[in-house]
Amino acid sequence: MQLILLGPPGAGKGTQAAALAERWDVVHISTGDMLRGAIEAQTPVGLQAKALVESGELVPDELVLKLISDRFAQPGMKKGWILDGFPRTVAQAEAFDDLLNKLGLAYPKVVHLKVMTGLLIDRLLAMGRADDTVTTIRRRLAVYQEQTAPLIAYYQARKCLTTVNASQGAAEVAGALSRLELVEPGGEAAYIANEAEFDALVNQEKLLVVDCTAAWCGPCKLVAPLMDRLAGEYSDRANVFKLDVDTNKDMATRFKVKGIPAVMFLKNGELLETMAGAHAYQVFSDKVASFL
Ligand code: AMP
Repeated sequence: MQLILLGPPGAGKGTQAAALAERWDVVHISTGDMLRGAIEAQTPVGLQAKALVESGELVPDELVLKLISDRFAQPGMKKGWILDGFPRTVAQAEAFDDLLNKLGLAYPKVVHLKVMTGLLIDRLLAMGRADDTVTTIRRRLAVYQEQTAPLIAYYQARKCLTTVNASQGAAEVAGALSRLELVEPGGEAAYIANEAEFDALVNQEKLLVVDCTAAWCGPCKLVAPLMDRLAGEYSDRANVFKLDVDTNKDMATRFKVKGIPAVMFLKNGELLETMAGAHAYQVFSDKVASFL
């Protein structure tokens, strides 16, 4: 996953980015958090940024670009990342495009969290952050309109932008985000067609992971893309498949699957464990690793 969350202050970028980063086990990068950390630690960057952050202005492009390029130079970025609060100007977006190109990383998807302006001031006041008074909030919103909103057209032109209605509550926005195709399909976990195919797979020595799912099941849609990723990550050590319980009721009965989503782990014809419910990617990945 390579994702940019774009939207005005108060759109919920931080909350949604943190939840997605946990679910997908990818790096969450918030330039606002990095700057607040630098200010608190009174580093040279912090000292330079302090007055600007406190008044709701943007800090200079070169300064955030240095933070970002240093962060992307650290290990672990290949597994994926979510940016929240960066880029905030067209110059930052252009420089970031160059950086990705230089590092050979895939072009990101961009989600615009769109909010009715009237809601934002109340939301930001309710969040009660130290740098937010009504005056700075107004300034932050004006700065967004002037300097950041042009990025909507920038990414639209690059055909990677999707808009989500973020005037709704955080849970609804999270639901809308989970319905988007935010990762390239790859390492797809295929469907098991029938019981004969299932039996052939079950009796192998290799670990078999079966995601029990159905078209009508909402939470199953959270688990399915994680299984696709699991299939890619463990392609040489485990077989990861999906099973439509509607067309395969007999198998669900045979393995006593009571509710879905449920992920079964099987080896040598034996069911080792069934994990019910939706979990973060790391939880499924650790479970596979524990059976290998
Ligand atoms: P945030 O937490 O994302 O709202 O950021 C808080 C403040 O940090 C902003 O009001 C800016 O002063 C500064 N800031 C964060 N990210 C950037 C950025 N990409 N470019 C310039 N200033 C930023």
